[in-house]
Parts: sequence; C-alpha cells; structure tokens
Amino acid sequence: MGLLSNIQRMMGLCMSELLKNYRNLNQKIERAATSQMPTLVAVSKTQSSDAIQVLIDAGHRDFGENYLQEAMDKIAELKDQKLIWHYIGSIQRNKTRDIAAHFDWVHTIERSIIAERLSKQRDEDLSPLNVCIQVNIDDQDSKSGVDQSELERLIDEVLELPNLTLRGLMCITDPEATGSFERMQALFREQQARVDKADFDTLSMGMSADWREALEHGATMIRVGSSLFGARD
Ligand SMILES: *Cc1c(COP(=O)(O)O)cnc(C)c1O
Repeated sequence: MGLLSNIQRMMGLCMSELLKNYRNLNQKIERAATSQMPTLVAVSKTQSSDAIQVLIDAGHRDFGENYLQEAMDKIAELKDQKLIWHYIGSIQRNKTRDIAAHFDWVHTIERSIIAERLSKQRDEDLSPLNVCIQVNIDDQDSKSGVDQSELERLIDEVLELPNLTLRGLMCITDPEATGSFERMQALFREQQARVDKADFDTLSMGMSADWREALEHGATMIRVGSSLFGARD
C-alpha cells in the first residue's frame, strides 16, 4: 500500500462521513421544521472543492463562504455547476467588486457605502444581488452588524439601490446573550410589515450550535459548517 492510496482511503472515509452528516442534518431539519423547510446554506469556508463536490453530487446547491480569495478559487473550480454562492464574511470596501461579480447572495450588509458599491458594481446582465442586512441584535461592542436604531434607515437606503434585492435580515448571536432569536424574529416581522414587499422573505440565523433554536423563531435560512464538514482547524 503506497502512501497515496492510504491518503485516498482516508479521504474517502472523510467524504463518506460528510455525506452521512449531510443526510443526518437534513433529516433533523425536516423533523424540526415547523412550517416551511428552511434553506440550508452549507458553510464551506476552509473546505476543499472536493468536499463541496460531495454535497453537490448529493443534490446540494447553496454554499456559504467568508474569505474572498479562497471562495473565488472554489467558485472558479466549480463554475460549470449551477450553484448558489452566499457571501457571509465581513466586507471591506476593496472587496465589493469581486463579491458583486461572483456571488448570488450577500448576508452581511451593515453599512450603506458597501451596499451602494455592490449595487454600482453588479453587472446589469446578472440578476440583482440578493442581500440581507446584518443586525447587531445583542448590542455587542465588538460585533458586526448595524445597530438596531440605524436599521430602518439602512433598509430604506438599500431598497433604493437598483441592482440589489433586499431579501431580509441576518444575525450572528452572542452565545452569552439570551432571547436573541426571539428579538430577531420580532424585528423581522415588524420590518416585513413595514417594507411590504414579497421578496423580503429571509431571516438568516442559526449555525451548527443553535440552528434548532433559530428555526423555532422563524429562521428561513440556516448557515451550518462544522456539523457538516467537521470542526475547522
Ligand atoms: C462560520 C460561519 C457559520 C457556520 O458556523 P458553524 O458553527 O461552523 O456551523 C455561519 N455563519 C457565519 C456568518 C459564519 O462565519
């Protein structure tokens, strides 16, 4: 047995583990979903294109990435397949052009300048970029997301941008905080009623540790990484 075949055997094991995790997770989500099935965004940051391919072969389409260069390499490698790429990392100004060119969704809008740039840089030939506004729901000093007091203004600004479609709200909760998902659900409903647009339909919240709780509070999109792919280094 050569080294290479050992590595291939190990990889094969990991890949079948991944497939098993994927099937288990889907079953659990199905059982936990109260009304409509949420969209599962498989968070593939730090994972290889080969790992992503395993999920594609199982019929999965939605993938989430945080690091732009790494994401663009994988998007290029997998470009012949019809995938839906979600940008879920923080956004510096100098990254907006590439994000606008290569992604279908951006979950992490927290400033109008970034939204304006994404809209301006989105190619008119592409469909509008789907975006969510990230809310600092736990009022953390260090955390990203727009302050709740600024949310309505940012929503109204984003709604004016021609090449973006505002799909809803997103948050990353502080594990120390309580009631975050509940507060998020209330905020989402309130803004949904105010905005009154059919495509404002997305509440992106819940990760490996807390997606069930997020579903109980109306999440329509959950973002799961380590429960699928295993712990990241
Ligand atoms: C990494 C990441 C996730 C996935 O986290 P897991 O705990 O691995 O499921 C979800 N959302 C965002 C914004 C992330 O950065």
